[in-house]
Amino acid sequence: MLTKSLKTTLNQNLVLRNLSVRGFSVKEYDLAVIGGGPGGYVAAIKGGQMGLKTVCIEKRGSLGGTCLNVDCIPSKALLHSTHKFHDAQANFKSIGIETGPVTMNFDKLMQSKTKAVTGLTGGIEFLFKKNKVDYMKGWGKFSGPNSVAVDMNDGSKDEIKAKNVIIATGSEPSSLPAGMLDIDEEYVVTSTGALELKKIPKKMVIVGAGVIGLEMGSVYSRLGTEVTVVQHVDRICPFLDNEISDAFMKILKKQGIKFQLNSRLTGGTNNKEKGVVVELETPKGKENLDADVVLLSIGRRPFTEGLQVEKAGLEINKFGRIDIGKNW
Ligand SMILES: Cc1cc2nc3c(=O)[nH]c(=O)nc-3n(C[C@H](O)[C@H](O)[C@H](O)COP(=O)(O)OP(=O)(O)OC[C@H]3O[C@@H](n4cnc5c(N)ncnc54)[C@H](O)[C@@H]3O)c2cc1C
Repeated sequence: MLTKSLKTTLNQNLVLRNLSVRGFSVKEYDLAVIGGGPGGYVAAIKGGQMGLKTVCIEKRGSLGGTCLNVDCIPSKALLHSTHKFHDAQANFKSIGIETGPVTMNFDKLMQSKTKAVTGLTGGIEFLFKKNKVDYMKGWGKFSGPNSVAVDMNDGSKDEIKAKNVIIATGSEPSSLPAGMLDIDEEYVVTSTGALELKKIPKKMVIVGAGVIGLEMGSVYSRLGTEVTVVQHVDRICPFLDNEISDAFMKILKKQGIKFQLNSRLTGGTNNKEKGVVVELETPKGKENLDADVVLLSIGRRPFTEGLQVEKAGLEINKFGRIDIGKNW
C-alpha cells in the first residue's frame, strides 16, 4: 500500500513529466549555438533568418566574443588612435601642419576604445531580436547529445533541447608552464590585460613576435613605451614570406621597437609595482631584461573548459581540439 506522501510525490512526478512532454519545462530548439563570438553569433543570426528556432548561449554577459570585447576591435581602436597621435607628432610638420605640443590623455584613449566596443556588442543584441534568436546569458554544457544545461549568470539553472548544436566556444591565450612566469593580467599580461592597462608603462617586454604581440607593441611604442620584442626564431611573423616579414621588421624598428631574435624565455620574477625580470637564453648566453609590464603573446589554444563534450559523444584530441575525425 502506498503511503500518502509517496502518492503525492508520484502524482507530482506525473504532472512534471506531462508538463515536460508538452514542452513546458524544457525549451526545444532547432538550433542551439554555444558561444556568442563571430563564429557563434553569425551562425545564430543565419539560423534565425532561415526560419530555425534558434538560441545562442553566451557566458560573457555581452555578445561579440573575444573579437569584439577583448581583442580585435579594442586593439584596432587603440591602433587607430595611436596612429593619429604618432602622425601628429612625427609627420604633420613636414606637410605644413603646425600644432603646439601634442600630448595623449591615456584615460580618454581607453574610454574611446570602450565606447567602440559597447556600441558594437549592443548592435548584435538588436540583430538577435530582429531575427528572433533567443539569447541565454550563461555557461552552456552538454547534458546529452541533444541537450544543453545552462548555468545562468543570475545563478539559476536551465536546460534546453536542440535538434542541432553548434559549438563556437573560441580560444584562450596560451600560457607558460605553471610557475615559469604566471599571468596576473596586471604586470604579466595577455593581450586582454594589455588592452586594460591603467597607465602607460615605461618599459614593456613582449614575448612572441606574432600579429597580436606586434600590434600591442606598436600601440605602446607610439605612446612612448620602450618596447623590446623577444622571439625564439630568427624572424618576426614566421608565417609571412621572408621579404614581407623583413620589411615589416624594418618599419617597426624605425618606429623604435627593439628586437631580440633567436632568444628563448626561460623564466622570470614578477615583483609587481617594482617591475618584472625576464630571463632569456640568447645566442650570446643568458641575459635578463627588466620591464614594468611583460606581455605574453605566445599563441592561443582552443577553449572547451566545462563543456562536457563527452556527454554528446565527442572527444578532445591531443591538441585540445574537439575531434571531428575525417570531416575537416
Ligand atoms: C589581440 C587580438 C587581435 C585580433 N585581431 C583580429 C583581427 O584584426 N582580425 C581578425 O579577423 N581576427 C583577429 N583576432 C582573432 C579573432 O579574435 C578570433 O578569430 C575570433 O574571435 C574567433 O571567433 P570565435 O567566435 O570562434 O571565438 P570567440 O570570439 O572567442 O568567441 C567564443 C565565445 O564563446 C563563449 N563561450 C566559451 N565557452 C562557453 C560556454 N561553455 N558557454 C557559453 N559561452 C561560452 C566565450 O565567452 C566567447 O565569448 C584577434 C585576436 C586577438 C587575440
